[in-house]
Amino acid sequence: MSAALVCAACGTRLRGSDPRTTCACGGLLEVALDGGPRGRALRALCDRRLHGDAGAMGSGVWRFRELLGLGRGERVTHPEGNTRLYWRDAVSRYTGVADLALKHEGENPTGSFKDRGMTVAITHAVHAGASAVACASTGNTSASMAAYAAQCGLPALVFVPAGKVAAGKLAQALAYGARTLLVRGDFDACLRLVREASTALGITLLNSVNPWRIEGQKTIVLELLQQRGWDPPDWIVVPAGNLGNTAAFGKALREAKERGLIARVPRLAAVQAAGAAPFYRSFRGGFRKRFRVAAETVATAIRIGDPASYERGVRAIRQTRGVVAAVSDAAILEAKAVVDAAGIGCEPASAASVAGVRQLRRQGVIRAGDSVVAVLTGHVLKDAESAMRFHERRGPRANPPIAIEPRVSDVERVLRKR
Ligand SMILES: *Cc1c(COP(=O)(O)O)cnc(C)c1O
Ligand SMILES: [Zn+2]
Repeated sequence: MSAALVCAACGTRLRGSDPRTTCACGGLLEVALDGGPRGRALRALCDRRLHGDAGAMGSGVWRFRELLGLGRGERVTHPEGNTRLYWRDAVSRYTGVADLALKHEGENPTGSFKDRGMTVAITHAVHAGASAVACASTGNTSASMAAYAAQCGLPALVFVPAGKVAAGKLAQALAYGARTLLVRGDFDACLRLVREASTALGITLLNSVNPWRIEGQKTIVLELLQQRGWDPPDWIVVPAGNLGNTAAFGKALREAKERGLIARVPRLAAVQAAGAAPFYRSFRGGFRKRFRVAAETVATAIRIGDPASYERGVRAIRQTRGVVAAVSDAAILEAKAVVDAAGIGCEPASAASVAGVRQLRRQGVIRAGDSVVAVLTGHVLKDAESAMRFHERRGPRANPPIAIEPRVSDVERVLRKR
């Protein structure tokens, strides 16, 4: 097995061991796999590792290592992945889709799917001799990078939009020891700055423009296919911000089909927040034009106005006969309340996928009998403020806390009220 890096814009080809994470022309690099096992043999190999034990063998990312383009060598792994699928009647009723599974990426070690990309990108950075790592982040990338950098002893530099990151995520970056910069600007400004700074200062960039992040995030799809016995669902639905995940899902499905892991490619649905929906606008116009918007939404993890992986996101939607949807903040918070009340819980951005399933079902795009896997991207505790605001506000699904005196009669009164 060997891999090369290919620039999507100019076609430049680099060796897989090259330390660069973007092309000199400014284009995005992509890992091109070559050789390795296929079909039944590849499935059997990945399935056998399910019964493996500790360390990298137990990782839901490195289990698929023949599909990640990285050769041998030490791995920086927590381990990560191995997230569960949940079926819940309340969520099925809410969306109108009986066979709806929720894949909970909030069960990763730092509470979001970012760990899957990070273990691969940090491992590659170490192999390539990185001296420091950096990222711009709406919160979860920085939490993940900080943890993996701490694990392997690399200095980490985080750029976040001041005042726009949920407290749980910021606390993680600080606690894991990353040098954290609060930038007066939005995420898009942070990403521009870190791209410039990392080139100028020789720091390895770990945003999802880094092709190795995409490789790791492919395993969300590979793992869910494996969990379904390699029987693909009709739809895979994912929240979409910077489009790293959308791109990774498209690549995973393309390669899974090419290598005979699956016989049929599921359709992708990428769901944006209505206040941060440049990709949705492009989709509506047949992807003839790329848009940039000033983004605003309660779902801070997808508060992105100029998605970096736009081109490869378009390819992912086209190649899977996919769709792009946009859902309001109200719809996101309502879907989150349903997921939370089912005992599962997720952060606001994650619930965009469930809100998207409901909307697409109502529009008849997803049919009642379709099988759907919706990805929950982050843990409920990432953004505790948002849940508190929702429940203290006394709306239809709110569950406000009740202040009482320390006496049984007060407890009884509360019980009766139900
Ligand atoms: C990063 C993130 C997203 C957005 O993923 P993209 O790859 O940027 O589209 C969605 N939800 C959560 C919780 C995230 O952390
Ligand atoms: Zn190039």
